[in-house]
Amino acid sequence: MEGEETMVTICAWCGHDMGEKNPEQPGITHGICEPCKRAAMRNFYLRRRQQEILESLSTERESGPTSLRSPVSVLGVAHEASS
Ligand SMILES: [Zn+2]
Repeated sequence: MEGEETMVTICAWCGHDMGEKNPEQPGITHGICEPCKRAAMRNFYLRRRQQEILESLSTERESGPTSLRSPVSVLGVAHEASS
């Protein structure tokens, strides 16, 4: 494994070759391409948001302005969580 002086970045999600990047260290590094990054971020925030909504539903809702929170219908969280 000699002679690999360039650093190739491969998306850890889809395996997409993102080409060579800052050769801080030679070899292959794993990153994440833009589409996967966006998808991962969306997934992350959606889950976090869903968690927050579920928590806000299970805790005292009258203590704060619920109108500022995300609408429950956006994530398709049914009203059954409030009963
Ligand atoms: Zn990717």
